[in-house]
Amino acid sequence: MAFENLSERIQKALKNLTGKGKISAEDINTASREIRLALLEADVNFKVVKDFIKKIKEEALGKEVQESLNPGQQVIKIVNDELTKMMGTSSTTLTKSKHIPTIIMMVGLQGTGKTTTVGKLANQLIKQEKARPLLIAGDIYRPAAIEQLQQIGTELQVPVYSEQDQKNVAQIVENGLKQADQNKNDYVIIDTAGRLEIDEPLMAELEQVKAVAKPDNILLVVDAMTGQAATDVAQGFDSRLDITGIILTKLDGDTRGGAALSIRAVTGKPIIYTGQGEKLSDLEQFYPDRMASRILG
Ligand code: GDP
Repeated sequence: MAFENLSERIQKALKNLTGKGKISAEDINTASREIRLALLEADVNFKVVKDFIKKIKEEALGKEVQESLNPGQQVIKIVNDELTKMMGTSSTTLTKSKHIPTIIMMVGLQGTGKTTTVGKLANQLIKQEKARPLLIAGDIYRPAAIEQLQQIGTELQVPVYSEQDQKNVAQIVENGLKQADQNKNDYVIIDTAGRLEIDEPLMAELEQVKAVAKPDNILLVVDAMTGQAATDVAQGFDSRLDITGIILTKLDGDTRGGAALSIRAVTGKPIIYTGQGEKLSDLEQFYPDRMASRILG
């Protein structure tokens, strides 16, 4: 499970503080140092860790904690609140369009789980809202991607718009949106191409798709297993496309979890969902407070 190691170490650091009538500055320094190391080893962004530790120390050394009956519990609460804040405080949902369809554009590097996540999101919208989505196959460079999306469409019984031999992705998206209008689909989810790394042609193409689709949501799919690199990728996509939210995939794996903890603080964009497995039902809404509680045990 993600965070196992981080969780264990933070809990251990805090355990030394509980049950004490008074907490000295030395106690707080020791705990802060352990938490700092645990976060860095979990691959949380250096600057995010620095700010976090500074806040914890300031608050933990404050009068309120020192004068409280159970200062250890107070410090745990401070850590919990700051961890939650680091991940965005409250849960964020999709932006709905006033007129159908609500358009969702998915972007991300190759192999992060973009195409799978298009299916997961469609599945969730169908389950929760009886939605009638249309999927658009905009990843024309990876030959298997169109087929993969069509298979997902068959499994979920939702239409997939694709064009063979068309090299202009923006045109495919425009045509797909016309079909969605005709069919009165309430959601359109656009799969787009990924690369192994961010490059200029990819970004230019995604900007064109954005201009044509005018999406209500641009969701960046990032692989939690890539750790620190995930935050760099997120910044790269955000600076060109102004993404609206993040989907963090593969949180079911043995990831150190740093991406989940720092991506919001680094980009200012919320994590909206997490992917927790390969099945179409493995998508969960992201709640910063629940994630913080999970880490603190
Ligand atoms: P794309 O290139 O970004 O479109 O990536 P794909 O959707 O083809 O996914 C790449 C691989 O990651 C596939 O084997 C998926 O089954 C797998 N995958 C996607 N999301 C998750 C997830 O949340 N957890 C796990 N364990 N695997 C995932």
